[in-house]
Order: sequence, then C-alpha cells, then structure tokens
Amino acid sequence: MKLEPAEQPPLADNVEQASPAEVAELLRFSPGDDFSAIDTSATPGFSGDKAAGKEAQAIDHELLSDLQERLYANANAGDLRKAVLLVLQGRDTAGKGGVVKHVVGALSPHGMQVAAFGVPTEEEASHHFLWRIYRALPKFGNIGVFDRSHYEDILAVRMHKLRPPSVWLERYDTINGFEDSLTDSGIHIVKCMLTVSQEEQADRLENRLRRVDKHWKYNSGDVADRARWSEYTQAYQDVLDRTSTDDAPWYVIPADRKWYSRWAIVRLLINELQKLDLDWPLGDFDPEEELRDLKETNKQFTD
Ligand code: ADP
Repeated sequence: MKLEPAEQPPLADNVEQASPAEVAELLRFSPGDDFSAIDTSATPGFSGDKAAGKEAQAIDHELLSDLQERLYANANAGDLRKAVLLVLQGRDTAGKGGVVKHVVGALSPHGMQVAAFGVPTEEEASHHFLWRIYRALPKFGNIGVFDRSHYEDILAVRMHKLRPPSVWLERYDTINGFEDSLTDSGIHIVKCMLTVSQEEQADRLENRLRRVDKHWKYNSGDVADRARWSEYTQAYQDVLDRTSTDDAPWYVIPADRKWYSRWAIVRLLINELQKLDLDWPLGDFDPEEELRDLKETNKQFTD
C-alpha cells in the first residue's frame, strides 16, 4: 500500500500545510474577486520557507505519482473514463514552463500529455479556434497539461488586436460551453492563473537577458507586453470573472516564489485526483491460481 495523505511523513518542526481540498478553497477565484489585489508573494496554506516547501513537494510527488498510476490503471485495465487537464496561464515569466518541468516532470511519461500553444500555425488558423485544443485533449486515464491554452484566443487576440472585439467577446461563452462538455465527458479541468509582481517579472526578464543559457526564453515582445501591465490585468480579470465556473473554476496562484506555486499546483492536482476515489482495478484472474501455475513453471525450469 502506498502513501495516503494521512500517512505522509510529518514536515519539519512547526511547518503547517493545508490539505489539498483546503488549498483548492484558498486559491479558488470567485467571479468579482479583485485579481489585482492578490498578494503575489504570499504562500496561502503553507507556513514554511523555501526549503520546507521543497521538502513538502517531494513528499507530495509520491502521492501524486501513486494517484496518477491509479488513474492510468483504472482506465487501461478497467472501464474508468476519466482524465485530468491542467491549464496553465499567466504573464510572461510567471513560471508556466517551470511548472511543466518540475511538477509534471516528476510524473510518469506513461499517462502524461503536455501541449504548448503558441501563435496558431497557418493550418490551425484555418480552423475553429478550438480545433487544435480538441486534438490535444488527454485520453482517458491520462493527465494533460496545457502550457497556454484556448484562453489565448481571448487574451492574445484581445491584447494584440488580432480580431475585432465582437470575435473574442463571444468566446467567453463558447469556452464555458466547451469546458462544460469536457466535464460532462469525464475530463476534470484544473485551471491555474499564475500571477507575479511587476518587480519579480523585471528580475526574471533581466535574468533572461543576462544569462546566455536563458536567451532562448527571451522574446522582445515580452517587454512591450509588460509596458501594458494594467491592460493585461484587466484582460485577466475579465477572463477570471467570466469563466470561473462551478465545474471548472480558476485558481489564482501567487507565483513570486516558484517553490510555492509548484507546491500549490501539485496539491490542486492531488485534490482533483482524490475526488475520483481511485482504488486499484481488480484483475480478471484468480491470483492464487496464477501463483500456483507460476510455481509449476518454475519447477519445470529447475527439473
Ligand atoms: P512562452 O511565451 O509561453 O514561453 P512562446 O515564446 O512560444 O511561449 O510564446 C507563445 C506566444 O504565442 C505568446 O505570445 C502567446 O500570446 C501567443 N499565442 C498563443 N496562442 C495564441 C493565439 N491563439 N493567438 C495568438 N497568439 C497566441
């Protein structure tokens, strides 16, 4: 039997962490909440420092990986028709790539599907905006991760004036309907909006410029986008207000401390998987009988 939450080893002295369900409550965005008022350096639900956060995350990885295996096993050896989809959005440098690398990298590649969405290709642009999204949805039994998503079809399109407002304004409803249909079909969506402060973003952009091994991450458009900070804040606010629904709520993740945002997202994934109440699927064989047969073959080899 693997680790269950109650059996996780305790953290260092005096460090307290909220349960996965409590973290979901703490970070959940309700329409009308003020996105700009969120403290980007806070660590809701975790009382320790970076070292304690990393330790807690390592322990959680065990649990997440166990849950992932159960999901995969039930869909592949059983008849479970469920998948989990993690959607990552946020300003440039908010840490989406780091979440993919550290959080998802800790999981088994079996049962994992990662998709990153950039400027649509010519072929993608010739289809409905959800076409490329449908094609990247996780199979039942898998955890999917979207590094950017269908929300760019509102955000990027609005901010870069790629289409008139009449086009992107109706996408809020289209996306709500689309996500409803995913939930109905068994795909649990965990939408995370990572949020950093202006100061933290400046440090991260400077770091990218000063380090040759980070240049590949730098895009000169990032500075132009940064200059429009409050316009972006409004665009995020509108997305959160209009698409944080009961079945697919947004979680706003304070992301100035990378260790915290990674810890929080792991907890949110654990929360979603625990809701599925996953046991191990039973085989369609009698293990005792199979063990007897196995022993027989062993005897045969040693004779
Ligand atoms: P990242 O910035 O996430 O590391 P890229 O450098 O590939 O990745 O940037 C992706 C870019 O693609 C972003 O500027 C994003 O706004 C843009 N993008 C993604 N989806 C769309 C879309 N549907 N329409 C227009 N631009 C998009």
